[in-house]
Amino acid sequence: MLDALMGPSRNQISKDSETPDFADEKVCKNFLVGFCPHDWFTSSRRKMPTCNKIHSEVLRDAFEAHPEVTRYRRQFEEQFLKYLDKVTRECDMFIGKEKIKCRPKGTGGVTTRMPPDVQEKYDALKKEHQKLVKEAEEVADESLSRSKELTQRAVDVELDISDYEKRYRFEYPGEEVCDVCGVRYASQKEDNPDWHERASHLNGKMHHGWLQIRQKLQELREKERVWEREDYQQEQKKGADRKARSKEKGSKTGKAKRDRAPSKSSKRSKRRRRRRSSSDASKRKTRKSRERGGKKKSKRKRSSSS
Ligand SMILES: [Zn+2]
Ligand SMILES: [Zn+2]
Repeated sequence: MLDALMGPSRNQISKDSETPDFADEKVCKNFLVGFCPHDWFTSSRRKMPTCNKIHSEVLRDAFEAHPEVTRYRRQFEEQFLKYLDKVTRECDMFIGKEKIKCRPKGTGGVTTRMPPDVQEKYDALKKEHQKLVKEAEEVADESLSRSKELTQRAVDVELDISDYEKRYRFEYPGEEVCDVCGVRYASQKEDNPDWHERASHLNGKMHHGWLQIRQKLQELREKERVWEREDYQQEQKKGADRKARSKEKGSKTGKAKRDRAPSKSSKRSKRRRRRRSSSDASKRKTRKSRERGGKKKSKRKRSSSS
């Protein structure tokens, strides 16, 4: 607890002043850059591995305020991405298994399902029906007409009850699995709009948790692309700097070297090549202009090309 409030190094006498408290290995880095879902899902089937590291708001504030927060954030987010990627893959595997277990339509027989407000009315009618039947029996000895009246009311109520039962009786619609969280729920079909399982599971802890995990994973994957681009640009820049440096070095120390035979010869051969190509061009041009018979033009061109 104290660790969570004050940081892991509260008892340390001498510590590495280079490493900030939040970067200590006892601190949960996922929590610093987002969240740690280890205690989100209480169901034993879907429980995440326990995280015994420190989850501290104070350290998170220190992390956010640190001058090198950008560097640390990327480091922690890279780890977080790996973690989220792993748990999400496990969740996807779970979803795959659940899909196989889905009960198909009709296997659950016929069930009565009512929305809560209808169920209340239905229960009240059932109670009323019981009461009327009982009363009718009780007054039968005293007043036959009163008993008949009560029996008639009981029959009316019974009709209402069976109306409700007919309306809210469904063949089991089969099951589906949520692609986000892996929860199984009864399918919602047009002919039975009163199945609420899909809608109600969307408000559940499991669905909310996995939605958050998947959104964060997506966000970090996009960031990863930016990191890769940044790294590439940095590499390019480093390469260019290295080249520029070596060139500079060369120009300072190797003036004599450059004047030596190989470079000289290469320069010369370049010059030769250039000359040859220009003379070839001028020859071609001269030929052409001669063919056209333009004596003046060819003369000018030859002089400009030389
Ligand atoms: Zn944690
Ligand atoms: Zn879900």
